[in-house]
Amino acid sequence: MTTPVNLLDFDLDGLTSFCEGLGEKRFRATQLFRWIHQRGVADFGQMTDLAKAFRDKLAGVAEVRALPIISQHDSRDGTIKWLFDVGGGNAVEAVFIPEDDRGTLCVSSQAGCAVGCRFCSTGHQGFSRNLTTAEITAQLWFAEHYLRQHLKTTERVISNVVMMGMGEPLQNYDRLIPSLRTMLDDHGYGLSRRRVTVSTSGVVPMMERLARDCSVALAVSLHAPTDELRDHLVPLNKKYPIDELLRTCTAYLASAPRDFITFEYCMLDGVNDAPEHAQALIELMRTHGQRGLRGKFNLIPFNPFPASGLKRSPMPRVLAFGKLLNDAGIVTTVRKTRGDDIDAACGQLAGDVQDRTRVQDRVARQRTVVLQQMPKPKVAAPRERL
Ligand code: SAH
Ligand code: SF4
Repeated sequence: MTTPVNLLDFDLDGLTSFCEGLGEKRFRATQLFRWIHQRGVADFGQMTDLAKAFRDKLAGVAEVRALPIISQHDSRDGTIKWLFDVGGGNAVEAVFIPEDDRGTLCVSSQAGCAVGCRFCSTGHQGFSRNLTTAEITAQLWFAEHYLRQHLKTTERVISNVVMMGMGEPLQNYDRLIPSLRTMLDDHGYGLSRRRVTVSTSGVVPMMERLARDCSVALAVSLHAPTDELRDHLVPLNKKYPIDELLRTCTAYLASAPRDFITFEYCMLDGVNDAPEHAQALIELMRTHGQRGLRGKFNLIPFNPFPASGLKRSPMPRVLAFGKLLNDAGIVTTVRKTRGDDIDAACGQLAGDVQDRTRVQDRVARQRTVVLQQMPKPKVAAPRERL
């Protein structure tokens, strides 16, 4: 017997083609899509306004298959972290972060990550595989409907999605897009494009495609003002250096749902947190600002994990860094750490990854180099400034 098709793998267009293949009309697919995503129903038998013949047909070839849950951790601050089994010894995490005016779900896109950033626990684990669309969507499907039940509400609980869990979403582009479309679809989760954020370490060609295919809010993990330093922290920078990355960000704004790009900057003690780094960043934003770039900064206090060998910047230094940027007219906030009692904070999502690419080896080898030879930023002499 063939494995049933998982309907979580489809956006509405995909589901429509699938249903048409079964000889059904387009509006039947819309009804089915709404049952699945708006009502959280997996059992075709309960989809009472679908014709019995259609339900029987579906039952023979399809299913709505959730991800098995390995564990759930509830933080004191209301944050919830789930660990999902994606097979083959791999597990990925999703985190729900409640706030007064919104509920945010942080979603994973890959089992592991091949980029191998020095300060990231996922990066240290190496890379196993891309998640399927169904596996990405299943995180939202489960979390939304679990939370509605748990909170005894029929109202939407998750208002924002951030692709900031495990993995580099733009290195899993083809699976990501249908999932984003399901999040945005009025027959699906109906989230606004401003409330769905793709966070990337800077996969330039895919940022260009995202602008055309499904332009949602964009967050870019910058972490350093110079190529020399960024090459060490975010190895992908060697391929797509800062100037090219920021030009692509500027171009993205033309179709973006927000009029700024969010830049993430992980504050690492003694590595990228000196006033000179802030000055260099201000210069960089000034140069690109003249070309039309608008950005806000989000300083993330580093969340340590043993293998990194790095330390979190002391809070006064984070605040001083933020003040320099703010005083220069760059809107900057410091990210609150949530769920750190359950290891759910940024970069602590480690899941379980069967490393297939020896990223772990590379990261471990280069970490020593980073710690010994962390370059100082080159800051332009005053007369060279604009
Ligand atoms: N791969 C994407 C999205 C996942 S990482 C990206 O890199 O943007 C989400 C955010 O967490 C990124 O900004 C990343 O740089 C940050 N991050 C990773 N490890 C971290 C850590 N240990 N402490 C704080 N932030 C971290
Ligand atoms: Fe991958 Fe993002 Fe972690 Fe870098 S920070 S290793 S891109 S998940």
